[in-house]
Amino acid sequence: MDYAQRIGVALGLLRGSDNVTAFTGAGISTESGISDFRSPGGVWDRYRIVTYQEFKASEEKRKGYWRMKSALFKEMSGARPNRAHQALASLEQMGKLRCLITQNIDGLHQDAGNSGDNVIELHGTNRTAYCLSCGLTWPIEEVQARLEEADYDPRCTKCNGLVKPSTVSFGQSMPEESMRRAVEFSVSCKVFLMVGSSLQVEPAASIPPAANNAGAALIFINRTETPWDHIASVVFHEDAGRVLGDLDDALREKLTCGDSVS
Ligand SMILES: [Zn+2]
Repeated sequence: MDYAQRIGVALGLLRGSDNVTAFTGAGISTESGISDFRSPGGVWDRYRIVTYQEFKASEEKRKGYWRMKSALFKEMSGARPNRAHQALASLEQMGKLRCLITQNIDGLHQDAGNSGDNVIELHGTNRTAYCLSCGLTWPIEEVQARLEEADYDPRCTKCNGLVKPSTVSFGQSMPEESMRRAVEFSVSCKVFLMVGSSLQVEPAASIPPAANNAGAALIFINRTETPWDHIASVVFHEDAGRVLGDLDDALREKLTCGDSVS
């Protein structure tokens, strides 16, 4: 199928459903200038990974970790939602998107206008940090200010506990409630729209087939092939911004036409 035909298939699925679950990975944010951590030259390439256990046990490891985060924050500051993020926010406004599951920690879906209640952040968020002892939470900007003063082992202002970004670190278990909700929305949707993940690692690898087994049609948008392309109704290897932008334009056009008739 050529591009226009595939857009036609995806449109048919999206027009016919008000029960869409989207699942996004790093690929949706690369067009916003945020590098895929796993890609060559990405953060994981430039810095050694610090596990949750190492973070808790070693001041030296914590300082290395916060230096890495500090560099990452600089890279992420100024990143804005792109056309793909905007299209997913639009899909929610149209009443079609019920849930948006993301592996990203950049907060760009909320910036684009998706409601925080509908966004499930499987890997947590870089927008806040919290105390490992008492749970007190701060906007990341406040912690960033301390990093800029070279305080690379920031402590809780209330109990002196260790402070860590609200992201899920290596060696830290996935938030159970988020996982439970993600699976629930995936197996109860009619259309599962996957954007920007190569579906190589869990839980990304097992969610799309679970949705498909439960009866959902799959739309995949990712630059590279995934292990599950063969069960998808339609697959795009084009840029997410282009594909979702075209889908959004077509869906809006239809809505506008409908409005002018009535
Ligand atoms: Zn504390």
